Amino acid sequence: MIRTGRAVVYDAPNALFEVREYPVRDVHGGEVLVRITMSTICRSDIHSYEGRRPNPCPGILGHEIIGVIEQIGDGIRDDMRGDALAPGDRVTWTEYFADGPSYYRDVHDMPQKSPGLRKYGHDLVADDPHFLGGFADYCYILPGTGILKLPDALSDEEATPLNCGVATMISATEAAQIAMGDTVVVQGLGLLGIYGCAIAKARGAARVIALDAVPARLEVAKRFGADLCFDVSTMSEDALVKTVRAASPPDGPDVVLEVCGVAAVVPAGIRMLRIGGRYVLAGVVNPGSTFTLDGNDLIRKWITLKGIHNYHPRHLIQALDFVMANRGRFPFKDIVDSRFGLDQLAEAFAKAANHSVLRAAIVP
Ligand SMILES: [Zn+2]
Repeated sequence: MIRTGRAVVYDAPNALFEVREYPVRDVHGGEVLVRITMSTICRSDIHSYEGRRPNPCPGILGHEIIGVIEQIGDGIRDDMRGDALAPGDRVTWTEYFADGPSYYRDVHDMPQKSPGLRKYGHDLVADDPHFLGGFADYCYILPGTGILKLPDALSDEEATPLNCGVATMISATEAAQIAMGDTVVVQGLGLLGIYGCAIAKARGAARVIALDAVPARLEVAKRFGADLCFDVSTMSEDALVKTVRAASPPDGPDVVLEVCGVAAVVPAGIRMLRIGGRYVLAGVVNPGSTFTLDGNDLIRKWITLKGIHNYHPRHLIQALDFVMANRGRFPFKDIVDSRFGLDQLAEAFAKAANHSVLRAAIVP
C-alpha cells in the first residue's frame, strides 16, 4: 500500500490554498522523514505568497517547522550536538540546507552563504520528495541540514520559531557585539524585534529601547525586556533621534538593530548612535531597500555598519539554549498565540498578514 500525506499547495501568488495528497516514500541515505507537529507562519511566507519575492509554484510554504522523526536514512546518527537520533525524537532543524563543497563554509565559516543553498518552503511540490515545506503532514530533512533534538520540557509553541526568528536574532545580536552594560535600540517589533529585545537583555544590555508604530507591539516588547518603548508614529525623525539620544546617556546608544524591513529608518538609526556605535541590518531583505547616508558622518562617528543574512548552525543551538535558560524570565510561550488546521491556512495567512495574531501556528 502506498502511504500518502496531505500538503497545502498554492499554484501561484495569491491563488487559493488547496489541500492535496502526495506519496510518502522511504528515506534515502542522509535523509530523515519527520511527521510535522507544528509549523508557524513567518513574515517571509506572506511575502512569498503575495508574490513580493520569487518562489517556485506550485509549492508548499513554511520553514519554521518542528516534528517527530518517523524514519532515519543511512549515514545519519546524531544531531548537531552529538546526541543520538532515533524515531520518536522531536526535532528542529536549520531552515536551509547545502550539500557538497563550499568556499564560504570551508574557508570563511559562512555555511549560510554556501553556493546552491536551498531553504525549506521554497521548492516545487511536484518534485521528489514532494514534502519540503511546513504546511503539510510530513517533511523530509535533506543532506546538509543541521538537526537538533528538542528537550521534552519545551512546548511546541516555544520550539517552532527557534529555527528562523530566534536563530536569526542570535546571529544579528552576535554581529552587533552587544557588551555588558550597553544600550541597544531595536527598530521594529515583529517577531525578530521581540526576540531581539530579550536576547539583548540576556547578552547583558543595561538598557533596551524598542521602537514601533503599533502601540500593542510596544506593550508586548515590555514583557520581553524592553525598558523604554517609543511610538515612532507620533514623532518626527528629528524628535525621535533626540528622544532616544536623551534616553541613552552620555552620548547615544551603543547598538541599533534594524529588524523592521523599512529602509527609511536606517539614517535615523545611525544618527542616534554614539561615536563608535554599531548598526546591524537584518530586516531589509527585499531588493530596492535603498537609503542615503553621508559617508562623512560614518567616518567622523566611527560607525560600524553590518548586514547579516540567515544564520550559522551554531546559532540554532544557541537559540535553543537561550530559550531554555530564559523561559522563566520571558513569556516565549505566548508568542505563538493562535492555532489552525491545515484546511484553515488561508484564514491563518489573512490573520498573520493583518497583524491580528502575533504568530499563527499550523497543527496538521
Ligand atoms: Zn522565517
